[in-house]
Amino acid sequence: MSNDQQNPIKTICPYCGVGCGIQVRPGEEPGDMRFMPWGDAPVNEGRICIKGGAATEVVDHEDRLTEPLIRDDDGEFREATWEDAFERIVDELERIREEHGPDAMGFYGSSKVMNEENYLLQKLARRYGTNNVDNCTRMCHASTVWALRRSLGAGAMTNSMRDLGDEADLFWIHGANPAEQHPIANSQYFRQAVLDGATVIQVDPHANKTTESFEIEDTDRHMHLQVEPGTDIPLLNIVLKTVLENDWVDEEFVDERTRGVEDLEATLEDFDKEEAAATCKVPLEDIETAAEKYATAGNAAIFTGMGMSQHTCGVDNVQNEINLALITGNLGRPGTGVNPLRGQNNVQGTCDVGAMPNVLPGYQNVDDDDARESVEAVWGFEIPPEPGLTNVEISMAAGDSIHGLYIMGENPVMSEPDANEVAERLERLEFMVVQDIFMTETAKFADVILPATSWAERGGTVTNTDRRVQRMRPVEKVHDDTRHDLDILAEVGTRLFGDDAGFDFSDPEAVFEELRQVCPSYHGMTYDLLGEEGIHWPCYEPGDEGDPYLYEEEFTTEDGLGYIEGVRHQPPAEVPDEEYPLVLTTARLIEHYNTGTMSRRSPTLNRQHPENFVDIHPADADRYGIEDDDEVTIRSRRGEITLTAQVTDDIKEGVVWTTPHFAAASANRLTNEALDERAKIPEYKAAAAEIDVRIEPTDAGAEADDD
Ligand code: SF4
Repeated sequence: MSNDQQNPIKTICPYCGVGCGIQVRPGEEPGDMRFMPWGDAPVNEGRICIKGGAATEVVDHEDRLTEPLIRDDDGEFREATWEDAFERIVDELERIREEHGPDAMGFYGSSKVMNEENYLLQKLARRYGTNNVDNCTRMCHASTVWALRRSLGAGAMTNSMRDLGDEADLFWIHGANPAEQHPIANSQYFRQAVLDGATVIQVDPHANKTTESFEIEDTDRHMHLQVEPGTDIPLLNIVLKTVLENDWVDEEFVDERTRGVEDLEATLEDFDKEEAAATCKVPLEDIETAAEKYATAGNAAIFTGMGMSQHTCGVDNVQNEINLALITGNLGRPGTGVNPLRGQNNVQGTCDVGAMPNVLPGYQNVDDDDARESVEAVWGFEIPPEPGLTNVEISMAAGDSIHGLYIMGENPVMSEPDANEVAERLERLEFMVVQDIFMTETAKFADVILPATSWAERGGTVTNTDRRVQRMRPVEKVHDDTRHDLDILAEVGTRLFGDDAGFDFSDPEAVFEELRQVCPSYHGMTYDLLGEEGIHWPCYEPGDEGDPYLYEEEFTTEDGLGYIEGVRHQPPAEVPDEEYPLVLTTARLIEHYNTGTMSRRSPTLNRQHPENFVDIHPADADRYGIEDDDEVTIRSRRGEITLTAQVTDDIKEGVVWTTPHFAAASANRLTNEALDERAKIPEYKAAAAEIDVRIEPTDAGAEADDD
């Protein structure tokens, strides 16, 4: 049968959390597959961004890992059989547990893979005897999840992209850049709302494609508040105090549905708005105008991004957004809420299914005896009761109390802060196994590398940013000697713990059937019921249609109330000084994805930005004698990278802005590993830095040097 005769298969884009549906026409041979729009896809109705359109480019890439690799005694990798690889893994995991105990291992789940695979990985870790299991949400929205769970009940978007697009009158976009990070959500839903009259308030140190897409600079309606990195609490406290002073509080909502407003009032009683405006370097009257627009808009929705979450005060940043939504009654109805736009296509689901050190599937606390017992009744083994280490804590302990790592589809050498230190620590491990589709910067330190299948070759479910659980379907035959992550985990679990230990799964649907037994918010879903539309959680019983927006009647906290709590400014862990006088901040580009394992191998995506660069304000460029396209070295206390300068007033004076995508010059060699003490998220968004300008020697100068 020729390609043209084969029916296209509907699946989900493997890149961002919007969860766009795509169709792929399979081919007879690797490389023959063809991307097609899926016209009535539930999220995107056929629209697609540059990443989704290029997703098929990496599936048959020549760099794909095709056979297991084992590191020899001489330190070189050699090709191995699966049998040899499994034997080595089981021997090493058993040895480490015997010699050091189960908490000497760490397990990394991945938001690039399916719910079923992450479910099985966290079950494997807990059967091994440790809660040291985590995923990349720790690096993006751990603080958001923490604050939302504590103060509203669920660690997820309160509303759906569709109801926000249909009903919002104002978008408060804080530390987020949906035009680049969530392009179809921006163009399909939010931009349409703006064309229909909605207002945009953007708070960000960097003017970006979102600023452009709403023409924020050119109208009186929209505003861009170019805040100093790490000063979001004083900015929001000005907004909150302005709302209180002007009686823009929704008294009925506050009385009936919240508690803690007195604490907020007390916190702001002596708060000095002028001093705070000077701290965040935004004119006070602009912040007050923005406050009025938000409080009087009708339906006002907050989008919160990593500009808020990736700080040592990340939990408090998000709590202050929750405070604002609660005192103005902007929760529990369409077009409102506090909405984290999640990064990777399954980062929401990876958390939902329990690949975190403190919670079991469905966010049931691991230190809650009743929760543990209910899951143990299904799993048939005891779950350790103490929360484990987060992934950054695991990396920091590697080579000390952590002796081994099991990594599925993650790349901490690129993704974690202070990347040079991470690499040094991984080298000191006794044993590390990595499952991935390419040789990553992290896999180079492994003892065993297992070649996994890509998004195009396997099926399962993923959960998008607005809690919609959708099915992915295999569109291509399994490559060479690769295996699905699910099959690998099933094999390792069965070899470690026996045939009856609950790992002997041969297909994702069987895993999903067990998952829904222990995850209450997924309980009403089956593969058949998910169909092509998917279902938003919570879905407690078959037939529930799921909730596109949460908290219509009450919050899901213990007392059903939303929690207000005043917070005070905490500067970043590292602030500019004489030696490092600039603030370094980071963000992503539309064409690339996180550590770039896939996107840097895609010709279409790599064309626009094949290398890293740094944005520098013209006044700073003048001071350092830097011109556009000069090579500059950015240094922090943790390392240095050399990249090309872009002189632009898109960035605030005194701040330099770059990206984490490029191995040769990743921003994470410079970023600070300081953590929010509750959510344990690192402070990627503010580090002290300095610039050196690289002076290329002229020919004459070179000769003189030779002399
Ligand atoms: Fe894929 Fe996200 Fe682009 Fe949609 S918006 S096509 S999910 S990368």
